[in-house]
Amino acid sequence: MNIDFFNSVKVLSGKDCFKNYADFGRWGKKAVIVCGKRSARLCGALDHAIAGLTGCGVEYLIFDRVEPNPLVSTCHEGGRIAREAGADFVIGIGGGSPLDAAKAVAAFAANPDFEPEDIYTKPRKPALPLLAVNTTAGTGSEVTPYSIMTVPSLENKKSFAGDDLYAKVAFLDPAYTLSLPLDQTYATAVDALCHAVEGYFMKKANPVSDALAEKCIPMLCEGMRRVLAGDLGFDTRELLLYASSMAGMVISRTGTGFVHSTGYMLTYYHGLSHGHANAYFLADFVGFMSRENPIRAEKVFALCGVKDSEELWRFLGACPAMPLGHVFDADLADKYAARTITVKNVGNAVSVITEPELRDILRKRCV
Ligand code: NAP
Ligand code: ZN
Repeated sequence: MNIDFFNSVKVLSGKDCFKNYADFGRWGKKAVIVCGKRSARLCGALDHAIAGLTGCGVEYLIFDRVEPNPLVSTCHEGGRIAREAGADFVIGIGGGSPLDAAKAVAAFAANPDFEPEDIYTKPRKPALPLLAVNTTAGTGSEVTPYSIMTVPSLENKKSFAGDDLYAKVAFLDPAYTLSLPLDQTYATAVDALCHAVEGYFMKKANPVSDALAEKCIPMLCEGMRRVLAGDLGFDTRELLLYASSMAGMVISRTGTGFVHSTGYMLTYYHGLSHGHANAYFLADFVGFMSRENPIRAEKVFALCGVKDSEELWRFLGACPAMPLGHVFDADLADKYAARTITVKNVGNAVSVITEPELRDILRKRCV
């Protein structure tokens, strides 16, 4: 047993934590704000950033071209623009896509000679400092050292990682998530639940990551039940946001498993959101892990308030706005199992699934 753990992010939480405590002047003279097309403005965080930066005389530019599941080429372009403008720190505002893009922009800006895919292979200089502002409660990107981008040449998503990618400060203001529609609220909560549960069965799990997982799994399930009952108020948002960040802390130590790597296929080829895609595989993941570690699996079911995999599957599919139905035909199930089985995450778990076993899950749930 060990209790190895590292996470360097300073977390500030509560209404107006970003508006009132960003302390921009500490991080540099010019910021690049990295965000999506709409949500940063819609939730008010972009206005708060602009007012705060202007108020303390820090210059800024806005790179608002980040698409969901960001392309590596988009992030490379953001890095070029940031460097040419002389930005010395990055502010990411959004869900996991803008936050991951902000990490990549920070890395590309510090490594001007990189082509987009060099980020996965070449040694690099440390990324620019990053401030992370959440507008979804799911990915935990604000507290992880990972950036996940879409790489068309690989027909997949791919992550790069490094301690330099940890945000300096993560700002968790639940009010910024109030404008997130119901289906995305449920999907992002499911993503966070996957992080906590997958992390619980990874080889790197230890008493510290377990304590975080055991704390946040019931919080997430309680939040999801409130969402199903139509409660999308501030208290529910707060519960989901803080729990999702704790789940992010879990995977910052453990990494994720086959739920995520298989989910990427549904996102890349079929356009399902990240959380929606993961929802297809979590119940069977716990069922599969129960062979190796039945005590842990029973504990997860109890923490989720369900009795077994099938009840968990029904719970994950209970949101009419995020149905778990047919996605593709059997031949694609076989292709995706073959693609996924070679991914590194699959081997991170205490029990490693085989290609025929994964194919069976894909056929059972998606065909
Ligand atoms: P997202 O892709 O960031 O956002 C999905 C959609 O929700 C976008 O259209 C976005 O609009 C909108 N949106 C975001 N916040 C909103 C708000 N407050 N109100 C209204 N609309 C809002 O979704 P996500 O699930 O948070 O992130 C998924 C990405 O994170 C994936 O690429 C996944 O691979 C990655 N991920 C990263 C980690 C990690 O550790 N780094 C872990 C898990 C997942 P805009 O486009 O206008 O912003
Ligand atoms: Zn995820």
